[in-house]
Amino acid sequence: MPRGILTKEQYERQLRRIRSPENRKKLSESSKRMWQTKDMTERNKKISESKKGHKHPSWKGDKVDYASLHEWIRNNLPIPKKCQNCGKEKRLDAACITGNYIRTGDNWQLNWKYLCRSCHMKSDPKRLKT
Ligand SMILES: [Zn+2]
Repeated sequence: MPRGILTKEQYERQLRRIRSPENRKKLSESSKRMWQTKDMTERNKKISESKKGHKHPSWKGDKVDYASLHEWIRNNLPIPKKCQNCGKEKRLDAACITGNYIRTGDNWQLNWKYLCRSCHMKSDPKRLKT
């Protein structure tokens, strides 16, 4: 008898073994496990995708815009000696006090004030959000 070829009797015995209730249970359990694993993988993929979308690019973009916008304000709005909120002579930041990061039109300056670091931290709507 060559290897790999079964007699009818051997074949039927094997079939019975495969179709036995215990085996069926095992099979369904392993397929359930597989399904769960797949589900978890999908879920993890979605989580990491949402993380990617939310945090990294926009965070970096905001940071760059924010810095260049403030630089622009410094170049276009005269810097006073004193904090426009508390009047202390400190290093001053250009602070958007209204939340409108506008730098066009006649009154764009009204959206901005030069504040010391501590007043800036308190007033900047962007910082308050986080
Ligand atoms: Zn101040």
